[in-house]
Amino acid sequence: MTAGPDQLEPQAASHVVRANLLGHPQSALVAFFAGLGEKPFRARQVSQWIHQRNADTFDEMTDLSLDLRARLGRIASIQLLEVISEKTSADGTMKWLFESGAGQAVESVFIPEPGRGTLCISSQVGCALDCAFCATGAQGFNRNLGCDEIIGQVAHANRNLPLRTSGKPAVTNVVFMGMGEPLANYRNLVPALELLSSDYAYGLSRRRITVSTSGLVPQIEKLGDDCNVALAVSLHAPRNALRDQLVPLNRIHPIGELLDACWRYAAKRANRFITFEYVMLRGVNDDLQCADELVALLRNRPAKVNLIPFNPFKDNDFTRSSAATIRQFQGRLRDQGLIATTRKTRGDDIDAACGQLAGRVRDRVRVRLGDKGRRTA
Ligand code: SAH
Ligand code: SF4
Repeated sequence: MTAGPDQLEPQAASHVVRANLLGHPQSALVAFFAGLGEKPFRARQVSQWIHQRNADTFDEMTDLSLDLRARLGRIASIQLLEVISEKTSADGTMKWLFESGAGQAVESVFIPEPGRGTLCISSQVGCALDCAFCATGAQGFNRNLGCDEIIGQVAHANRNLPLRTSGKPAVTNVVFMGMGEPLANYRNLVPALELLSSDYAYGLSRRRITVSTSGLVPQIEKLGDDCNVALAVSLHAPRNALRDQLVPLNRIHPIGELLDACWRYAAKRANRFITFEYVMLRGVNDDLQCADELVALLRNRPAKVNLIPFNPFKDNDFTRSSAATIRQFQGRLRDQGLIATTRKTRGDDIDAACGQLAGRVRDRVRVRLGDKGRRTA
């Protein structure tokens, strides 16, 4: 027998941990209010207060009865992230460092552009996948972020950035390109995507939400069925021998298997394009033969290529390809019919550019996929 609402409340009130409604998507809020004997529309009201009207307490929710507000105050919370630091780049890019417990921290970056504002968020404290060129990977992995911590990054940005001239929130696009591999935290990613796209929360169209992955094939398949947001895939090499070195996950899910999953994903989204990220590493993956091999893999497919000039970080031996090499590589792709762009480096004066996010991570992964030996304990 399940406890009725009256039995639930005193019991919940005596516990220290209160449900953080910040991380409850609509479906979970409906269940939460059903447990309290409240109507489903309470879920919509509370969701709009938290995510659209930036309420930080239940007392502000004036269309709820005083009784319900007091009750929610006893059994639930709206727990935002604690900010450790905020930095602003000369180009307007902003970076926040958020407390993640046990002396650790994760980062988010806001990139303002004419007509849009992109928030780049983290999904894990560190990353276990150990890509050779990534500052997050070099930190190791500690834990997954909860849905409340993922959404907390968006909630913080919306509460702290000025509204756009249209009166709309500053964040128009969200990309999971911060710390961590989002598809390795699938359980918390999916409710976060639900909140980002819900009309009662952030109301972003699925085209404005991008999940970037280094290639977890089974989760790509699931995501296509569950959420169908825009997908970016970190390819970085056109052949397995090279990709095995750069992205160790390739040894488990090699290029052929990964691309098959990508085309199936695209087919489920009416063949909307998948973005293939390709970090430009001098003398490693930036010659014209690589460009031609990339064309052979992606031509006549729903694919576009985004070249990312490598962003250096401490204790890493790679160097960025020259601007001329990147231009030539991009030209070679375009000449053969691929859509190819080069990502503008933003916020590198505050270490906010792609791959530079490191936060603070206590590595607790002992067995690593990588064979570079730098952190195998
Ligand atoms: N784990 C996911 C998302 C986070 S990384 C993924 O790997 O896709 C976001 C993007 O930054 C990825 O394409 C990643 O390969 C790229 N990246 C990592 N380190 C980089 C670096 N030092 N310079 C440029 N891009 C980098
Ligand atoms: Fe993890 Fe992505 Fe960095 Fe690879 S590039 S180590 S998957 S965060």
